[in-house]
Amino acid sequence: MFKSIVINKDEQGYQAQVKEVDDSILPEGDVTIDVAYSTLNYKDALAITGKAPVVRSFPMIPGIDLAGTVTASDSDKFKIGDKVLLNGFGVGEKHCGGLAEKARLNSDWLIPLPEAFSPRQAMAIGTAGYTAMLCVIALEKNGVTPDKGEILVTGANGGVGSFAIAILAKLGYTVVASTGRLDQTDYLKQLGAAEVIDRNTLSEPGKPLARERWAGAVDAAGSHTLANVCASMQYGGVVTACGLAQGMDFPASVAPFILRGVVLAGIDSVMRPLADRIEAWQRLAEIIETADLETISTDISLDQAIETAQALIAGQVRGRVIVDLGAN
Ligand code: NAP
Repeated sequence: MFKSIVINKDEQGYQAQVKEVDDSILPEGDVTIDVAYSTLNYKDALAITGKAPVVRSFPMIPGIDLAGTVTASDSDKFKIGDKVLLNGFGVGEKHCGGLAEKARLNSDWLIPLPEAFSPRQAMAIGTAGYTAMLCVIALEKNGVTPDKGEILVTGANGGVGSFAIAILAKLGYTVVASTGRLDQTDYLKQLGAAEVIDRNTLSEPGKPLARERWAGAVDAAGSHTLANVCASMQYGGVVTACGLAQGMDFPASVAPFILRGVVLAGIDSVMRPLADRIEAWQRLAEIIETADLETISTDISLDQAIETAQALIAGQVRGRVIVDLGAN
């Protein structure tokens, strides 16, 4: 038996509970893992609270990220004792995930745990930090260099936002953080934001074009925020769109794209090929310092994860949450 969060949907509705389960809940897979740490991303909080239809089959163990040690393997890629890392690939949505002491996964989804990070540190980064890195790599690949001007980061206090600020600042970019929590300005400046702005300035319906300001942007909000960000890009600016914290809609016009040559780069972390994952984690290892991880993250036990997921959806969690599977 092992401890897990289990999500069920039946005639009584949608419920997430912490409980002891046996191996029969685990799906097919060629690698079995003792999970040391997992984490709570926005998507995990949607799954646990049932706020959006993230979970596709029941019962489901949520958790789109995990780090741990291989305990059984039928794969020639990983052997017993190897430390491994998983981000996405539908795990925690369609295939039982990381918010449990044990997982059984397809070896094609795993990468070796980067040497620079312990399992706990890798989960301080998690999908949110890895996605922030993918956004910054997309800015770089589209020619946004630090001399081009200011980079806007929306959803600044969230996991993606916090890592985007820290990464960009360390690479020498001037970062402007947009947040609904101006009381967290000291934290955002500690991460490297040069200026903090109120997200209300971006969240209402705006004009097709606004004053050209940003050379690049990392957007975790979507909806009117993304439309207003596109409208206020410099000529040739690059927007990386990765999130929907405000909404999944995109009420924009084509004006920024056809009149200012703005590039809208969509960022998906879930089905990203392994080579891109390894590149992103290598860059994170080069850029991120241990002290940054401590600033951004807090630790909880599995027993605290359901309550914390509700707080995350309510916008009350700052930075990243590490779930310690040994702390129960
Ligand atoms: P998170 O930690 O919950 O952060 C989201 C942040 O968005 C909040 O902290 C808040 O920041 C801001 N926010 C909340 N409600 C908002 C609203 N109504 N309007 C504008 N901003 C709002 O979540 P996360 O893990 O960083 O993920 C952020 C987004 O990226 C989510 O939508 C998630 O699904 C998405 N995501 C996508 C991928 C991908 O592969 N494309 C990967 C990871 C995450 P402030 O309090 O500072 O305003």
